[in-house]
Amino acid sequence: MPIVQTLIKEAPGKIAMTNMELGDPGPGQALIRTTLATICGSDIHIIDDMPLVPDGTPMGHEAVGIVEAVGAGVERVKVGDRVACCCLMSCGNCARCNDGDLQVCETFGAPFNLVFGAQGEAFMVNGVDTSTAPVPDGMDDKHALLVTDVLSTGFGGMERAGLKPGQSVAIFAQGPVGLSATIGAKHYGAEPIIVVESIPERVKLAKQFGATHVVSPENAVDEIMKITAGKGVDVAVEALGKQVTFENCCRVTRLGGTVSSLGVYGGIDALSIPTDGSFIHRRIVTTFCPAGTERLNFLLGLIDKGRIDPTPMITHEVARAEIFAAYKMFRTRADGAVKVAITL
Ligand SMILES: [Zn+2]
Ligand SMILES: [Zn+2]
Repeated sequence: MPIVQTLIKEAPGKIAMTNMELGDPGPGQALIRTTLATICGSDIHIIDDMPLVPDGTPMGHEAVGIVEAVGAGVERVKVGDRVACCCLMSCGNCARCNDGDLQVCETFGAPFNLVFGAQGEAFMVNGVDTSTAPVPDGMDDKHALLVTDVLSTGFGGMERAGLKPGQSVAIFAQGPVGLSATIGAKHYGAEPIIVVESIPERVKLAKQFGATHVVSPENAVDEIMKITAGKGVDVAVEALGKQVTFENCCRVTRLGGTVSSLGVYGGIDALSIPTDGSFIHRRIVTTFCPAGTERLNFLLGLIDKGRIDPTPMITHEVARAEIFAAYKMFRTRADGAVKVAITL
């Protein structure tokens, strides 16, 4: 049974490196040796403001790696395969998985079907046949990394909103999920794509990914209404997880339009809806990272064909030995950090 070095939530607000014994893979499981991982905004919430996640929990849910061992009944995945692992695990067999909603798999207890330990040397995946996809031949880890969570979530925000080509979109905040939503908006033909952001490095990435207008957070509502001739946008995306951005999304969405909420709202007990009229006849949709092999294949295919390239948002690569510095950089957004990749 392998003993691996892994990062854990040691206590609220604290992480530590430790050695952990991972058992042999059970039925449907596989042990994946991590080759490239990254830090997610959700990791910060797990550490800081999610007491539901107990101390000692291995950290990390976004990674690419090599299959080291498989359990009984695994059919599609074999030892030595290079795989991208979806951050939400699915059985492929329950009612929700059969609906195509693999991210809310009943068997693995969604919303608690998150991968844990992907920032360690190796981690265990349940339902590996439906929770992973092979990395296309010739694609490096960096190009595959972001399909495991943020890219799928950003695209999902557009899909769940029912975005049609030519519709207008406003995206509040251009962190990793917001930037992924911008890539998704461009891919699905939105026009204009208005982003709300003030950090220069993120503004630059947003424009690179297809933003047509950039407005600052302070006067976002007024600016977006001006750009849309007072009508508001067809789809407004909340990608920060704050009350004020959620309210502003409601205020810039046209009558009959959709507020698409992607933020995690960590540390907020409840979200309130403004009653100034901006909640009348709008749809509000929320999205849990779309999961499963087909989903991973779809996004990996777009990257492989050169249709999209999310890699510019991986602003830094840091060795696992320096993971504490990597966390600090991600938290403080130092040096323009957006996504920090953790190498071997
Ligand atoms: Zn994540
Ligand atoms: Zn399932």
